[in-house]
Amino acid sequence: MKHRPISLQSRFQIVILSGLALVLLMMAGLWLREQRSQQEALAIAQENTHALLAEQMRIRGEAQVRQLADALSNPLYYFDLDAVGTLARSILRTPDVDYVLVYDRQGRILHDGSGDIAAFGQPMDDPLAAEVVAASGPQARFYGQLLDVSHPITVGDERLGGVRIGYSMAAVARAEEAALASLRDQFNAVSQRSMTWLLLMFVALIALALVGAVVVHRLLVRPIRTLGMLARRIEAGDFTGPVLESRRSDELGDLIRTFGRMRDSVARHDRDIRRVAYTDALTGLANRLAFREALEQRLHETQGTSSQLALLFIDLDDFKRVNDTLGHEAGDDVLLQMASRIEQEVDALGLGNAVVARFGGDEFVILLQAPEVEGASVRDHASRLAEALVARLAQPLLLHGRQVLLGASVGVAVFPDDATSASLLMKNGDIAMYQAKVAGKNCYHFYSRAMDQAVERRVKMEQELRNAWQRGELSLVYQPIYRTADRILAGAEALLRWEHPEYGSVAPSVFVDVAEQSGIIESIGPQVLRSACLEAATWPAPDGESGQAPFVSVNVSARQLRSGELVRQVAEALDESGLAPERLHLELTETSVISDEANATELLGKLRQLGVRVWLDDFGTGYSSLSHLRRVQVDGLKIDRSFITDLLRDPDDLALTSAIIAMAHSLGVVVVAEGVEREGQYQLLRERGCDLVQGYWLGHPLEPQAFVALMR
Ligand code: C2E
Ligand code: MG
Ligand code: MG
Repeated sequence: MKHRPISLQSRFQIVILSGLALVLLMMAGLWLREQRSQQEALAIAQENTHALLAEQMRIRGEAQVRQLADALSNPLYYFDLDAVGTLARSILRTPDVDYVLVYDRQGRILHDGSGDIAAFGQPMDDPLAAEVVAASGPQARFYGQLLDVSHPITVGDERLGGVRIGYSMAAVARAEEAALASLRDQFNAVSQRSMTWLLLMFVALIALALVGAVVVHRLLVRPIRTLGMLARRIEAGDFTGPVLESRRSDELGDLIRTFGRMRDSVARHDRDIRRVAYTDALTGLANRLAFREALEQRLHETQGTSSQLALLFIDLDDFKRVNDTLGHEAGDDVLLQMASRIEQEVDALGLGNAVVARFGGDEFVILLQAPEVEGASVRDHASRLAEALVARLAQPLLLHGRQVLLGASVGVAVFPDDATSASLLMKNGDIAMYQAKVAGKNCYHFYSRAMDQAVERRVKMEQELRNAWQRGELSLVYQPIYRTADRILAGAEALLRWEHPEYGSVAPSVFVDVAEQSGIIESIGPQVLRSACLEAATWPAPDGESGQAPFVSVNVSARQLRSGELVRQVAEALDESGLAPERLHLELTETSVISDEANATELLGKLRQLGVRVWLDDFGTGYSSLSHLRRVQVDGLKIDRSFITDLLRDPDDLALTSAIIAMAHSLGVVVVAEGVEREGQYQLLRERGCDLVQGYWLGHPLEPQAFVALMR
């Protein structure tokens, strides 16, 4: 059972009511005691009065009966009944006398004061009669409401008889009653007075209790309740409420004022913390937390309405390059400029109620709600904004007087079509953005369920790839490269393999792409480089000849090129392995070199200074013209497999291949053909003077030991 809290007020009430009840009990006790003593006093008074009056009556009766006995002695001696009657009647007439009986020695009635004396000669038959007749002196007896007084009548020593007078006690009772009545009246008056006093005192006490309750309520309970209510509101994050000022100079006044100051200071801190917690420090935009709350709020508001929301996920393309090559300050500058561009585009489309946030890094998110008045759906608004953003963010930025070209990929997810919860909406927006990246960057993409799965697989693969090298799942195989003229082994290309415990061997075309997209290649690349150098350093020089041991050719991704670490990594790998620099060849893709020519030229210069050879891989697939080769100094190029495949069938490919070879030779550049699968291809390439060949017809990629065996 749950205890209901007892309020301060109720406690006070309970105490006061119990006090009152106690006082009431005490008063009732006092009252009862007084009543009882009065009763006792009355009883004693009654007893005393009764005894006194009865005694008086007896004395009077005895005097009267003695007088009567004296007066009767003579008439009785002479048996003068008339005289006896006169005397008896005179007595009978006195008040309070109930009967008079004159009797003879045997107790027979001689006269009873009546005219005809109906009882004459009859013996007395009342209960006292025998005792009275036998008595030799005066005697008084109370019985019932009567006092019977008797006296013998004598002459000399001779007893003649006796006389009895019966007095009624009614008068005594009346007198007694009268005396007690007045006493009772006095007692009653006293009781009434004390009752009045008691009542007055009780009323005064109740009044006092009421006043006490009111005072306690106003001075203690009400202010404490107000403070309690405010404290609960503060607890719930609400800092509004009445101004807390008090003119009271007591402890509670002090408490109220302190509480007021405390609330103000907590409110101030809360505001500060909120500002810090809810804004992105760099751009001043909302941050992830604030955005999340705004999204939940909007979702809540649109629940049950037909209103739609759209989430735009914006990720800057290749932002890391800026950070790596130009420094973090430049990176911050880019983010600031991009943030203001985003805000401008949002404003330009009149989407005032949109929430723009930065999620950290180079990720921006916009929450859109279609303005009610217009007919256009939120999808229309979202695609107009996404289009505008892609165009605007791709415009050149000015950084330290230098033009930098970046772009952005935008993913759009719509509520409730794509997701019905905030988390899912954000996840799907992210997936759509990812898809835009995969689709070639610098574009926007709406979320679709089909791509969801593909992306999810990719994300999973990304996670698994991250530590694959450490787990020993990645390894290198070596594909032999031969001199075309005499088919002597000249070197080998190191190719990465992934043996996944679950998926088995994953095609490099798949995982290398993932590694490049996600940047994981930046950690794997150096390992490949190091490992290939260490391996090649163990390869023996061919017997008998003074020539060199085979070279090793390592693929380097565009990202590694941009990281700015490549030269150092190459130098370290050479240093550690002791491999002669000219035995290391680096394969860079044509596109990676062309896209950032200025940077690449400088880098290639440094690499060549180290003594390593630089080759352009997959030559012919990019859009570089041969004129690039003049400016970008390379040592060799690998004609892409697609040209070699059709060499025998497609005269254009043959012409192009021949031209590339001739052109390269004129520039002093070595030419390698990859993907040679048939003897015919090999023969043609030899005819055209291609320097080196690589392909399944000549040799598949081999495990390190198998390759060492091949060399022997
Ligand atoms: P690539 O650099 O052009 O490598 C040559 C690819 O052609 C290899 O595929 C090789 O096995 C394949 N190949 C060789 N001869 C023939 C042939 O006669 N017929 C056919 N159909 N294919 C042949 P692989 O090993 O699947 O590698 C694919 C791509 O993955 C490579 O293309 C390279 O761009 C990338 N890659 C492989 N290892 C690495 C690495 O360690 N680092 C980087 N950055 N990329 C790598
Ligand atoms: Mg290659
Ligand atoms: Mg290639």
